[in-house]
Formats: sequence, structure tokens, C-alpha cells
Amino acid sequence: MSSKRSYTIAVLPGDGIGLEVTPPALRCLEAAAARFGFALEFRSFDWASCTYYLKHGVMIPDNWKALLQECDAIFFGAVGDPARVPDHISLWGSLLKFRREFDEYINLRPCRLIPGVTCPLAGRAPGSIDFLTVRENTEGEYSSIGGRIFEGTERETVIQNTVFTRVGVDRVLRYAFELARSRPAKKLTSATKSNGISITMPYWDERVAEMAKEYPDVKVEKYHIDILCAHFVQRPHTFDVVVGSNLFGDILSDLGPACTGTIGIAPSANLNPTARKTDAEWMPSLFEPVHGSAPDIAGKGIANPVGMIWAGQMMLEYLGEKDAAALVLSAIENVLGGAKARLQEEGVDVLTPDMGGRGTTESLGNAIENTIRSK
Ligand code: ATP
Ligand code: MG
Repeated sequence: MSSKRSYTIAVLPGDGIGLEVTPPALRCLEAAAARFGFALEFRSFDWASCTYYLKHGVMIPDNWKALLQECDAIFFGAVGDPARVPDHISLWGSLLKFRREFDEYINLRPCRLIPGVTCPLAGRAPGSIDFLTVRENTEGEYSSIGGRIFEGTERETVIQNTVFTRVGVDRVLRYAFELARSRPAKKLTSATKSNGISITMPYWDERVAEMAKEYPDVKVEKYHIDILCAHFVQRPHTFDVVVGSNLFGDILSDLGPACTGTIGIAPSANLNPTARKTDAEWMPSLFEPVHGSAPDIAGKGIANPVGMIWAGQMMLEYLGEKDAAALVLSAIENVLGGAKARLQEEGVDVLTPDMGGRGTTESLGNAIENTIRSK
């Protein structure tokens, strides 16, 4: 009997550059799987895309949930075609639905300065920025509870509530503390605003302080969100794991990758870290690049595939294939770090225009794939 490890992956390339960055990423993952002796079965679907919506009037088919639950993880390109389909239809009808239905309560993004990528912050050496943002992904400020009264009059009043539940706050903090404990620096930074938001944010701070007692080995600090944003820019090297509510995490998880260069290389994981395949209902996690469908460059073959490849790297890690994941990350770093030398020696530019080069999705994707195969 063969004991070969095998994983089934739902592949949803989506729209725009999602369709262009998915194939090279799949080739890189396949190359890594071949090196480490496991199998990946990719199940590609054309839904969760605006093309599908324009043909069928819905973003996803009726049996979408069952189809995704047959898989170990979801690999998602990018969705959106704002010129033809409004974002609230395309996003709420696909990605945001998956996040909610599968209770993917963690949004995890690494911020790491990769060799060869120009940092917009002066004087930062490769490797000097290396932290992760952990965003609460299900509640907080993004509730749909509230309403308007006296509409259309001078007394018009609009209210939207913030919802913090003990379960919701504790599970994201627990994940962040565990993540911090697993890293060499063992440091956790919490984003707050308890000087201005006087009910929910003090509660968040209380839960952090309470849980910190269980993690005496983790250094804990908290900053108000405004000064924390300033620190991201002025001293990004001092962060390790940064945790925030849905709104604060949203802001930080875009600002972080922006501090490390181009949005084109940033990956993201939407995790339900406590879900098990043996549960009554399986809740798969979803891996995607931070960027969207980028209609402005779609079809030109110049989209940076690194965000998608790196998202695949996070997926390998989640599946437990740590060695394969490490290989993919080091291939990304080697190829980008060696890009200038490659251009001089071989005349091949692998840096896509967003990184200041004339490379293509293909030249960069191929270089990373070949590095994975040969390293
Ligand atoms: P969506 O509505 O799908 O989120 P968007 O245009 O609002 O799309 P992004 O797709 O993230 O947002 O694009 C923002 C900018 O970053 C665009 O100018 C785009 O060209 C650029 N960009 C995004 N991803 C990449 C990439 N992988 N490679 C190069 N440039 C990119
Ligand atoms: Mg967008």
C-alpha cells in the first residue's frame, strides 16, 4: 500500500490577473511536491469570478460549499471586474461568503523585506523587516448592526455597532500568542485605541492582559493604532507578531506589506486554525495574494506572480509540508535577490514592472519554478 501524502486543493483563479498568476503558482507548488514526495490534486473551478456571473447571474453554483469541503484547502486568485460587476456583488458573492461560511477567523499576512525588492523606506536591509499581522476576520467593527433615523432631515443620525464577543476576541488572541511563542523573538504587539474608543477597546486590552498571564515567555506591548501606524513606517524592524481587531487589522495588514515594497509580492491566509477534517463539518482555510484582479494591467502578462506563489507557500506550511514551504520561500528570495546578476549574465529580466524591471509573469514564474526544481 502506498503511503504517499496527498492533498486536494480547490483552485479558484477568479478574474483579471488572478487568471495569469495562478498557473505559474501551481507549477511552483507541483515542483515542490515532486521534490518532497507528496502529491497535490488541483481541482480548478471557473466560478467565484465575474465571467461566471455574467454568464449565469450568480457568482457561485448551488453546490459550492460541498465542492470546497471536499478539498483540504482553497487556493484563490483574485475576484473583481468593477467595470462590469459591482464589487459588492462579486466580493460578497464569493470571497467574503467563503470567509464567513468557513469561519476563517484569522487573517494572517507576513511582512518581510525580500532581497532584490526595493524598500520604500530608506536604509532597510533585506531581512530587517520580518513580522506577521494577525487580523480578526469575523466580527468587531465590521458588523452590519445599526441603522439610520431621521433620514433626510437635519437630525439625520447614523449608527453602526462594534461587536466583540469573548469567543471572538479570545480565539484571535490565542492564535497570535501561540504564533508569537513559536518564533525566536517571542514578541506580541496589540493594536488598541482605548483612549478614544471607551467601551470595546478597553475590553480588548483586558483580554490581552488576561491571556498574557498564560504566556509569560511572550513579551507583550500595546500601542494605539495611530502611533502604531507611525511605528510601522519608522521602525518596522522592531515588530514580530502584531494582532488587531477587524478594522485595525485591516489597516495594518495593508500598511505592513506596503512597507516592504510592492503589493504584488504580498500573500495572505484566511485561516480557521482549529478546524479538523474529522469535525462534523469541515471548514477549509483559504490562501490568496493580497492584491486584487488589477484590471489596469490584466491581459498584459506583466503581473507579479510572487504574491500568489507565496500564498501557495503559506498553504504548504498549513498542510504540514514545512520543508517544501521553506524551499519555495528560499527560491523566491534567491530569484529576486539574484535578479540583477541574472540580467547581466543571461540577459533575462525577472523583475516585473512593479519591482522596477521589464520582466514578465512568465519569466519570473519560470525562474522560481526552475529554482525549486534544481535546488
Ligand atoms: P480589485 O477590485 O480586484 O481589488 P484593484 O484594482 O482595486 O482590484 P488591486 O488589484 O490590488 O486593486 O490593484 C491595485 C494596484 O496595484 C493596481 O495599479 C495594480 O496594477 C497593482 N497591482 C496589484 N497586483 C499586482 C501584481 N501582482 N503585479 C503588479 N502590479 C499589481
Ligand atoms: Mg480593490
